[in-house]
Amino acid sequence: MKLVFLGTGGYHPNNRRHTACLLFPQIGVMLDAGTGFFRAAKYLSGTHLDIFLTHAHLDHVIGLSYLFDLLAVHPLERITVHGAADKLPAIQEHLFSPTLFPQMPPYRFQPVEQFQPLPDGGVLKHFPLEHPGGVLGFRLDWPSGSMAYVTDTTASPDALYSGSIAGVDLLVHECYFPDKYKDWAIKTGHSWTSAVARLAAKADVGRLLLTHINPLCEDDDPVDLSLARSIFPATDVAEDGMEIGL
Ligand SMILES: [Zn+2]
Ligand SMILES: [Zn+2]
Repeated sequence: MKLVFLGTGGYHPNNRRHTACLLFPQIGVMLDAGTGFFRAAKYLSGTHLDIFLTHAHLDHVIGLSYLFDLLAVHPLERITVHGAADKLPAIQEHLFSPTLFPQMPPYRFQPVEQFQPLPDGGVLKHFPLEHPGGVLGFRLDWPSGSMAYVTDTTASPDALYSGSIAGVDLLVHECYFPDKYKDWAIKTGHSWTSAVARLAAKADVGRLLLTHINPLCEDDDPVDLSLARSIFPATDVAEDGMEIGL
C-alpha cells in the first residue's frame, strides 16, 4: 500500500513544504487536510475519500475548503470527514461560515470511532495527545503493515501514548524544532529532535519519518538529522511528494 506525503510542514506553507496532509491514494484515506490537500486529485483513483483529522487548527483543516477543485478534476461519490466530536461542529460553523466561504462543500461529518474499519481489512485507532485544545494520534493496522501518525504534541520517551504506537512499521511524528529550540517546543506544544528519536527507539518502531517541520526553516536539514540518527538510525525527514510503501 502506498502512502504519499502531500504536505510536511506546520503552521503555514513555505517554498518547500505545504502544511499537514498524508494520503493513501489507493484506498482513499487521508490524514489531516492542510494546504497540501490541493495535490490529492492527481493521486486518487477511487470514488470515496475518508479524511481523518487530528484536530482543527487551521494548518490541519484549511485544505477542506479546496474540495471543489479536487472534485472538478476527480469526481467523488462520498467524502467523509472524521474527527473528535467536539471539533467537527467548530469546522462546520467557523471554517464554512457563509461569511468566510460561499458554499458548504458536500462533506459528511462523522465522529471518529474507537475502532474505525479501513479498506483492505485495516483498522484505525485513536488516542489523545497533549496540545492546546487537544489532539488525536492515529494508529493504522493492516494485515500487511502498520503505521502511526502523531503530530502537534510534545514527544518524550515516557509519553502516555508510547504504548499506542509500540511496534509499528512506520512512525510519522512531528518534529517542529531542533534541540536548540527545545524551550520553544515546550512553550508551543511541539517536539524537538532527540525526544522524538528516543521515543521511536523506546516504542521499537521500524522506521521514523519526521514531519510538521518549522516553515521558517527551508534548508536540507531542518531538525539535525545526524543527532536523530545517532539515537534512532532509521530516521528520515519527510518531504512533500515522498511516497512510501507499507
Ligand atoms: Zn500543526
Ligand atoms: Zn496544532
